[in-house]
Amino acid sequence: MLNPMHRLWSDGRWNKLTVAHGCYWKKCSFCDITLDYISRYETATAATLVDRIEAIIAETGQTGFHFVDEAAPPKMLRALAEELLRRNVAISWWGNIRFEKSFTPELCQLLADSGCIAISGGLEVASDRLLKLMKKGVSVEQVARVTHSFTEVLRAGACLPDVRLSHADSAGHGGCAGIRAPVI
Ligand code: SF4
Repeated sequence: MLNPMHRLWSDGRWNKLTVAHGCYWKKCSFCDITLDYISRYETATAATLVDRIEAIIAETGQTGFHFVDEAAPPKMLRALAEELLRRNVAISWWGNIRFEKSFTPELCQLLADSGCIAISGGLEVASDRLLKLMKKGVSVEQVARVTHSFTEVLRAGACLPDVRLSHADSAGHGGCAGIRAPVI
């Protein structure tokens, strides 16, 4: 069976947008964290993001969005979801995250309600000792918990490990060889 995340990458048309510029974590020991698109972390307000989303929909006629952040920040995703719901803007979206413990079942549900159809995240190795050495900032147990939360709300239960580059869809800074865990 094909990894369903790969189909998302190549099927259909997706407007590309970032939730924030750069990576809020920028600590992974293998990452090119001096590059501008990683080191310079800047956010926009949720209102500005939804303004952009509405403008892009008007321009393209497409309501599908791929958020191409290396790791979309959970706080911004929450604010974005609330603003989309408040304005009743109906889109489908997916993107990359770090497996933060703040992705609780409640937040995952909110994201799904706002149009989230899939999430991917990079995990280089299933070893807490090595993850610590990499300064990855997550444990295997935490990754499993977050993946479970997304799987539960997104309903399909498909979580297929993939050993390609975890951030390969974006600018490819070449650091994240690992498992991509799609939840569709
Ligand atoms: S590997 Fe990904 S999460 Fe880690 S610092 Fe680089 S961009 Fe951020």
